[in-house]
Amino acid sequence: MVKYVCPSCSAISETDKSFCPECGTSYLKKESENIKVESNEGGGLATAGLVCGILSFLLFPFVLGPIGIVLGSVAWNKGHPRGKAATITSIVGTVAGLLITIYWWNSY
Ligand SMILES: [Zn+2]
Repeated sequence: MVKYVCPSCSAISETDKSFCPECGTSYLKKESENIKVESNEGGGLATAGLVCGILSFLLFPFVLGPIGIVLGSVAWNKGHPRGKAATITSIVGTVAGLLITIYWWNSY
């Protein structure tokens, strides 16, 4: 699904129809005027989640990991491509942190 900004009424629509559901302006006729929004919504969240996920490998996996998972999955729900990577990175970071902690725990 692609998001469109209507050239006529500026309504943001997630539609596969060829016209604006708000005002009926045809997207096909004015295609060149359309701004195709590749769902940049959630970009900041995805980046923050990814940073949390990467940092969770290094420090505070039980704090930064879950934060990264939450931020990443929110961005993922918004359809941002980096949201999925952020979520997966954060999950891996949390699990890796858990294993490292168990390893350290056992070595004492
Ligand atoms: Zn419209």
